[in-house]
Amino acid sequence: MLNLVLFGPPGAGKGTQSEKLIGHYHLVHLSTGDILRQEVASCTALGIEAKKVMDQGMLVPDEVVIRMIESRVEANLTGRGFIFDGFPRTIAQALSLDKMLSEKETSITCMLALEVEDEELIRRLLNRGKESGRSDDKSEAVIRKRIAEYNSNTSPLIDYFKKKNKFRGVLGVVSVDEIFTNL
Ligand code: AMP
Repeated sequence: MLNLVLFGPPGAGKGTQSEKLIGHYHLVHLSTGDILRQEVASCTALGIEAKKVMDQGMLVPDEVVIRMIESRVEANLTGRGFIFDGFPRTIAQALSLDKMLSEKETSITCMLALEVEDEELIRRLLNRGKESGRSDDKSEAVIRKRIAEYNSNTSPLIDYFKKKNKFRGVLGVVSVDEIFTNL
């Protein structure tokens, strides 16, 4: 299996590049952000709880997202592999993912990280908020909080994957096609 972690701060272009990678490698796309937004849209109990956290720019509890990923990994084990987009976001999530995959006799092939400066991320997310209707893209304070969460809780995963020699950084500020070629 080819199992990619598409990594990077909010607004780095993970969604856009996931779509291109899926088309190319025919992988199953697992975006915890997308799954959570579906739960919110369907007004499930999980969605109602998650929305409160998401609208503050904070992270949903690890056990919630791990459960969401686990059921979808199990349902798609006969495929070519996965693109994990926006997951893992904490060391605890990465440890669970490694354990989950090793129990299925597979593993993460590599982490591809999109690299974009904070001020460019804020500019992109505010722009996206004008069109996307995503409530967490509307306010600069929430955007800054999401970036701060990334810097404190999520960026330590870079070292986690570097130690396993599975980290590849890609500049995220050239054209969409150029980034895709580099990925
Ligand atoms: P995203 O679409 O990846 O930017 O995620 C939107 C929001 O969903 C985040 O700001 C978090 O509140 C929540 N979220 C998405 N993925 C995760 C995750 N792996 N762990 C915790 N919270 C998450």
